[in-house]
Amino acid sequence: MTPGRCRFCDAPLTTTFVDLGASPLANSFLAEDDLGRMEPFYPLHAMVCDACFLVQLPEFASPREIFSDYAYLSSMSDSWLAHCKAFADAAVARFGLTGKSLVVEVASNDGYLLRWFKDRGVRVLGIEPAENVAKIAEGNGVPTMARFFGTKLAGELASGGTRADLLVGNNVLAHVPDLNDFVRGLAALLAPGIAPRHVPAQDGEMRNSIADVSAIGAELGWAPARRGVDFGDVVAWWRARKVEV
Ligand SMILES: [Zn+2]
Repeated sequence: MTPGRCRFCDAPLTTTFVDLGASPLANSFLAEDDLGRMEPFYPLHAMVCDACFLVQLPEFASPREIFSDYAYLSSMSDSWLAHCKAFADAAVARFGLTGKSLVVEVASNDGYLLRWFKDRGVRVLGIEPAENVAKIAEGNGVPTMARFFGTKLAGELASGGTRADLLVGNNVLAHVPDLNDFVRGLAALLAPGIAPRHVPAQDGEMRNSIADVSAIGAELGWAPARRGVDFGDVVAWWRARKVEV
């Protein structure tokens, strides 16, 4: 088999991180009609990039196969819902969000987060590729586009005048096939000038937004997932690869 390429920096993927054999798709259950049929298994063989150290799976199943009928609903967890309510309270107060503000969430699932902003009179837009989940969000009163996010969708939204005053993504990067396109899309969707309002730094919206997210996390008592990561270094890394951040 020819080696795949790193989904972040495009270096060849040749080093095994851990090989766990073959597995069916997670969060994808069989229906009764499927019981007599063959169930597809895929290699669960995580590779680590020698150039940037991103651990990743080569892509065997397309995002459309994975997300066409997704079984995970974020609102199933009461403690996660309570956390999201606290996050929304903190974000509304910290950023002074009003009825004129727009909060966009990428991978917004069933509206588990945006509903709290909506309750406070803030405009919301969810972007959720799993159509069955997006429908549930709509049923919960959270406007949701059933689309995959990237520069294409961000460009469509921005040229139609839709820009986010707060842009949230929870547990999403690990599911993204094209990381660079996704992050470029985030930068394109942020309202101009939004970040400097919160953090008086000179070097771009993305960095400031990351700093804001970190600050909210600190206020809510979150520990950073990976200690020792300097977000300035992350931004410099993206810039060196011609990503505008
Ligand atoms: Zn890499």
